[in-house]
Amino acid sequence: KEKNSSQEEFLQAATEILESIAPVFEKHPEFQENAILERLVEPERIIMFRVPWVDDNGKIQVNRGFRVQFNSAVGPYKGGLRFHDSVNLSIMKFLAFEQILKNSLTEMSIGGAKGGSDFNPKGRSDGEVMRFCQSFMDELYRHIGPNTDIPAGDMGVGGREVGFLFGQYKKLVDGHVAVLTGAGLEFGGSLVRKEATGYGLIYILDEALKMRNETIKGKNIVVSGSGNVAIYAAEKAETYGAKVLAMCDSSGYIYDNNGINVDIVKEIKEVKRGRIKDYLKYPNTESAQYVEGGIIWNVKCDIALPCATQNELSEESAKILAKNNTKYVAEGANMPSTNEAVDVFLKNNMLYLPGKAANAGGVATSALEMAQRSSRIQWTFEEVDAKLKTIMVNIYHNIDNAAKKYGFEGNYVVGANIAGFLKVANAMLAQGVV
Ligand code: NDP
Repeated sequence: KEKNSSQEEFLQAATEILESIAPVFEKHPEFQENAILERLVEPERIIMFRVPWVDDNGKIQVNRGFRVQFNSAVGPYKGGLRFHDSVNLSIMKFLAFEQILKNSLTEMSIGGAKGGSDFNPKGRSDGEVMRFCQSFMDELYRHIGPNTDIPAGDMGVGGREVGFLFGQYKKLVDGHVAVLTGAGLEFGGSLVRKEATGYGLIYILDEALKMRNETIKGKNIVVSGSGNVAIYAAEKAETYGAKVLAMCDSSGYIYDNNGINVDIVKEIKEVKRGRIKDYLKYPNTESAQYVEGGIIWNVKCDIALPCATQNELSEESAKILAKNNTKYVAEGANMPSTNEAVDVFLKNNMLYLPGKAANAGGVATSALEMAQRSSRIQWTFEEVDAKLKTIMVNIYHNIDNAAKKYGFEGNYVVGANIAGFLKVANAMLAQGVV
């Protein structure tokens, strides 16, 4: 704690994980004898660098770039790049730390990393975004590679940014190397990667509900965010017969008792790069309302899907969900609920699927993208989607079994952390003190 005293988000993520894996250490004294925990919380490498670029007015801008290569015991570093003005070292470390266990849960051979910059692509022209991405890659390229570190997208990094980043990487190394996932379909990308995190979230939720003789059909859902994860979670939930009542961005939320039309949200966010309040300008949205600055969790629902950002769901909001009889919370975002909010979910016996398990579909499909690229074969949409579903169903049973085995039945915070940790710890043990 002292070493990382100003890194609030990292300490929050680490505290949650370390507390919940304590029971493992009673059964495995060898982990303590080999300082697995002390080594696990220390990143293998952190790269921080200057990213200078020229804006459309000819003015020089300077941002800060990061890559946290946290743990490579299980496989090469893997994790997204985030471009958002809130990005700092603490946020990078928390995301990379969570990624270690998430990647382990996918059962693919991938280690944990995260990177990004405090650059915000919102409101920037395509030319500015391209020049920024090129400058970012001018430094990052020497630290990544298909056997060392394979970044992907995250907040603020979608198909456009991955394209620019890849173009510069290819130029610098003079090779068409599979070094970034989330690539365009024309240059090595995989079908379903765009949809994977949101779809995967619904697949794991569906499995958890099935085990309780429940279904998604007929449920009212609130999805926070309106980005990549939120859109495809909402889309899949609607195909399962649920009604999505509300979605948001950082300015406010839209609400419609008749259900949100996800195609309009897609058009606003993916094509126009607009704001969620623009929803009301579209035809047949008369029954919708926009609440500027409102807290989306005040909307009564059966299922809450936080898909925006870290710490967006506070203890207070969790209490409102509990009061409104929300029974299920599944996280599409990384650490969207504060630790206090999670305590409220567990105390109220709500089904709670933490992000590290519930949003693992994105990185799992990235690993499927890597497999397709190295074998030079492209699977169909249906093939990738079926594999994604199998992975999410397996993750559910894996975390459920781990929770039961350690005496915490139904507690998926403990289940996900223990199931993810064991593989990493055993790999570290096998590889000696490195
Ligand atoms: P996007 O950038 O596509 O979308 C993020 C959305 O969240 C935007 O609608 C944004 O609105 C909104 N948002 C951001 N901050 C806030 C806030 N404080 N309050 C309300 N809304 C907010 O990102 P993604 O959808 O890719 O990522 C969302 C989350 O999912 C992140 O936590 C990410 O780490 C996680 N994740 C993403 C994966 C992926 O495959 N993309 C994989 C696994 C996890 P605005 O436009 O106003 O900023």
